[in-house]
Amino acid sequence: MEKLKKFLNQIDNKGYKAYKDLQGQTFIFPDFDLDFYYVQGDPFAGPSQVAIKIDQKIARFPEATFNTGVRNIALNDYLTRILDQKIKIICRGRRGTGKSGLVAVDAPGQEILERSSVRVTSGQVEARLFIGLPARGRKILGRQAEEMLLEEIPRLVKSALFFTSLERNPLVNHIQTAEDQDFMRDELQEKGLVAFIANGSILPRRSGIDQRPLSRREAVPFYSPPSLEVELNTPHTGKVKGMGIPRGITIIVGGGYHGKSTLLRALERSVYNHIPGDGREHVVTNPEALKIRAEDGRRVEKVNITPFISNLPYGQDTGAFCSDEASGSTSQAANILEGLEAGAKVLLMDEDTSATNFMIRDMRMQKLVAKDKEPITPFIDKISQLYSELGVSTILVIGGSGDYFDVADTVIMMDEYRARDVSQEARSIASDNKTLRKIEGGKNFGEILQRKPQPQSLNPRKGKKVKIKSRSDEAIQFGRENINLQNVEQIVDPSQTRAIGDLIFFALKENIIDGKKPLAEILKIIEKELEEKGLEIASPFPNQPQGNYARPRPLEIAAALNRLRTLQVRV
Ligand code: ADP
Ligand code: MG
Repeated sequence: MEKLKKFLNQIDNKGYKAYKDLQGQTFIFPDFDLDFYYVQGDPFAGPSQVAIKIDQKIARFPEATFNTGVRNIALNDYLTRILDQKIKIICRGRRGTGKSGLVAVDAPGQEILERSSVRVTSGQVEARLFIGLPARGRKILGRQAEEMLLEEIPRLVKSALFFTSLERNPLVNHIQTAEDQDFMRDELQEKGLVAFIANGSILPRRSGIDQRPLSRREAVPFYSPPSLEVELNTPHTGKVKGMGIPRGITIIVGGGYHGKSTLLRALERSVYNHIPGDGREHVVTNPEALKIRAEDGRRVEKVNITPFISNLPYGQDTGAFCSDEASGSTSQAANILEGLEAGAKVLLMDEDTSATNFMIRDMRMQKLVAKDKEPITPFIDKISQLYSELGVSTILVIGGSGDYFDVADTVIMMDEYRARDVSQEARSIASDNKTLRKIEGGKNFGEILQRKPQPQSLNPRKGKKVKIKSRSDEAIQFGRENINLQNVEQIVDPSQTRAIGDLIFFALKENIIDGKKPLAEILKIIEKELEEKGLEIASPFPNQPQGNYARPRPLEIAAALNRLRTLQVRV
């Protein structure tokens, strides 16, 4: 600590480059070690990264707060949030030019994800912070640096990272809430369900860009219709009652603006755990549920979309369909086939974001446009095969077509934000009013190709340098390419996007993407590495762990790879 103080004194007023000597150094403070992993080159560049390492003899977190996978993730997440709160109180922030004075941690949103910002083990607590080393112009402000590093940081550590300084109940509640959700998600499988929504859940959000719950005054809480009510056991909340969505085919119907999409969106995001107070902390969805939508304009590389689309004009191949600009229906078909290839077990779809001609083709249209003149086999004719042959369930919002009554196992109606089970009614309407439409789905679902990504088609470099970046949850810059992830709706955190970009690079560098392994196998290997070594593997720089990754699902890693415009595969 004295050494650091002396150094900062020496470099006061010197050129910014003098800070660089800090990189790779460790300074020993009374309560913790301060590691400089990375030091920025100027006050405007990406901030410096430091790690704070506290011995457990000092931090004193009880084993029970981190001794299982889910507890560890929840505790790390919780401490990240506390750090974020305390930084706002303790650290003065901007002082000087550019990022001077910044102290930040990679703050989470409504989900509890595995992150690289804080890591608690039985030996130590490590927290990774981003710091803007202060300067005026390019001249080092040594005195300000001293204030940040020698006064603010130690206070921050004491108030956020010592077990004894933390309020006990919210910490325990955070961990238990996550543990309950994991437990409930496992129970879904045993009970033959694909999703569960507890009574009293708050599903609507404040806005499209604010994921916090709508206030309790405005929101109508969710309650299960009696016929779909099930009870799940949780370790910490006891028995929880709510609506179970069984495997098979479920459609959500109801008038416009009655809460259909809101329900589906809650299911999309409940593949992840939510924080206490979110309103969805007892909503769980099968972890391999995938949102499917139309995404016209996306690129598609050799996907067999013949289950849905064949006989295109001028004999275009749909067995290994390629397009630089897929249409609404072909993109939706490709999204399904790619999802199945990557391991999706439940498809979530909303008519609002689907291509109409992909969803329905009614009796009258069948009469006017003969089957051999219509390349599209609508989803309604494949949905049953998906379940009976592949075991893949579907939850579909469709207020616009009663044709789906013929294929649905469960029909849920949203009526002024309240759910009703109208399965019986829909069934009798279907038998009293036959649609007389022909079933056009053929005998089998069709083949799902196992495509082998070719490494030479993925270039992480721009010029000589590796360049992989992402600033939002909607895009990754990968070398010269920009991967558009705007329509990959189950990426919920920009830190997941960042991890995806770097994990693709990792898989390239480690020869996991070797041109011979199919995508599904590549995803399994990445998953196993993440399981064993954690998010650390994603860092492109040796000995430079990154503090701003959040773990993505394999389904979203695949989604990014599939959207890289240069991707080439062998089939
Ligand atoms: P639909 O898909 O049936 O047209 P949405 O799910 O888009 O309807 O919901 C319409 C509006 O109602 C949205 O602004 C949404 O935030 C709001 N909303 C949805 N569910 C609830 C609820 N349970 N309580 C209060 N407002 C809700
Ligand atoms: Mg809607």
